[in-house]
Amino acid sequence: VKRNPGEKEFHQAVHEVAASVIPYILDKQRYREARILERMTEPDRTLIFRVVWEDDEGNVRINRGYRVQFNNAIGPYKGGLRFHPSVNLSVLKFLGFEQTFKNSLTTLPMGSGKGGADFNPKGKSDREVMRFCQSYMTELWHHIGADVDVPAGDIGVGAREISYMFGQYKRLAKEFTGVLTGKALEYGGSLIRTEATGYGNAFFMEEMLHHRDDGIDGKTCVVSGSGNVAIFCAEKLIQLGGKVVTLSDSSGFIYDADGIDQEKLAWIKELKLERRGRIQEYAEKYGCEFHEGRPWGVECDLAFPCATQNELEEEDARKLVSNGCIAVSEGANMPTTSAAVHVLQEAGVVYGPGKAANAGGVAVSGLEMSQNSQRMSWTADELETRLRQIVTNIHRKCVRYGQEEDHVNYVQGANVAGFIKVADAMLAYGVI
Ligand code: NDP
Repeated sequence: VKRNPGEKEFHQAVHEVAASVIPYILDKQRYREARILERMTEPDRTLIFRVVWEDDEGNVRINRGYRVQFNNAIGPYKGGLRFHPSVNLSVLKFLGFEQTFKNSLTTLPMGSGKGGADFNPKGKSDREVMRFCQSYMTELWHHIGADVDVPAGDIGVGAREISYMFGQYKRLAKEFTGVLTGKALEYGGSLIRTEATGYGNAFFMEEMLHHRDDGIDGKTCVVSGSGNVAIFCAEKLIQLGGKVVTLSDSSGFIYDADGIDQEKLAWIKELKLERRGRIQEYAEKYGCEFHEGRPWGVECDLAFPCATQNELEEEDARKLVSNGCIAVSEGANMPTTSAAVHVLQEAGVVYGPGKAANAGGVAVSGLEMSQNSQRMSWTADELETRLRQIVTNIHRKCVRYGQEEDHVNYVQGANVAGFIKVADAMLAYGVI
């Protein structure tokens, strides 16, 4: 706390990992002597830069750009870029730190990083977004590369933004390499990448339920968010027989008691991913309820926070418990506050933390990197099978390191399993 004053999200993420890893390393002198955990909490480097661009009215605008290169012990830095007004160093350090464990869990050779800017793409024209992305990349390109640091999308950064940034990188670096993931198919993108985080989150829930001889079929599901992760999480849940009754954005949530089906979801995709509209329009179109706030008071069996950090608080967790929710799987990064996690775990709700439950996204990014390196592309079926397999393996590792007397502690399992691979690589390099 003294070294990183005011970085509350970063403290929260480190505290959660330390609480599981410290007991594990207590009797393992090699980790303690080398102070591996402390070393892991310090990013390799942090880049902060000015991003100047011109809006459609000719006004000069200034934002702050970042890239936190957290840890490259097991592969090139890898992690998304976030464009949102709430972006600051604390948020990006928490995300980069979490990414270290998540990427390790996928078993693919990827280090960790995170970046972005306090730029708000909402309400901006395509040309304004383009000019911003080009200006952002004009600084960032010096610091990234296919074997150095491979950014991807996150909140506010989707196919449009990745395309503008890749175009600018290509122009500046005079090379065509897989320097970003989440690219469009025409220029090196991977099938299933767009869907991967949401699909992976649904698969992770399925794994947790199968482990208890249960399944998704017939379960009522509450999903928050209506961006990339939420939409494809809902799509896979519906395919697996779940009944998805909510989606949300920062204005509120829709509650469709009949369930969102594939046809309604196709309309939502057009609304959110093409037209960049608000989820409230769904309520008007399909005559269902719209409420301000978050959806956690809606009765459900399963909950999927897929919007942003700290969106599920202690009081929300109590509502989920009293409504009979049996499991929570996080599509977003750290959406559940520490106090809320405590409430869920005390009540015996199965809880899958984001670093395990949403790792499918970065896993398919890793597969996009492999395809780019080989200059070839795999089919959608092949990729979905690989994604499924990776999620199964992550679940298996969580069970191996998180099994307690009568239940699996997925937080413990994910943190310890993620830690070991990175820690052993760092030990092997000596004191650097
Ligand atoms: P998008 O930008 O596509 O969607 C974000 C959604 O969350 C929108 O519906 C947005 O609503 C809502 N949201 C964002 N900020 C807030 C807020 N402060 N309060 C309430 N609602 C909010 O982002 P993604 O779907 O890509 O990302 C969602 C989460 O998943 C993030 O935590 C991200 O880090 C995580 N994640 C994403 C991965 C990916 O592959 N994209 C991979 C792994 C994790 P509105 O439009 O009103 O802002």
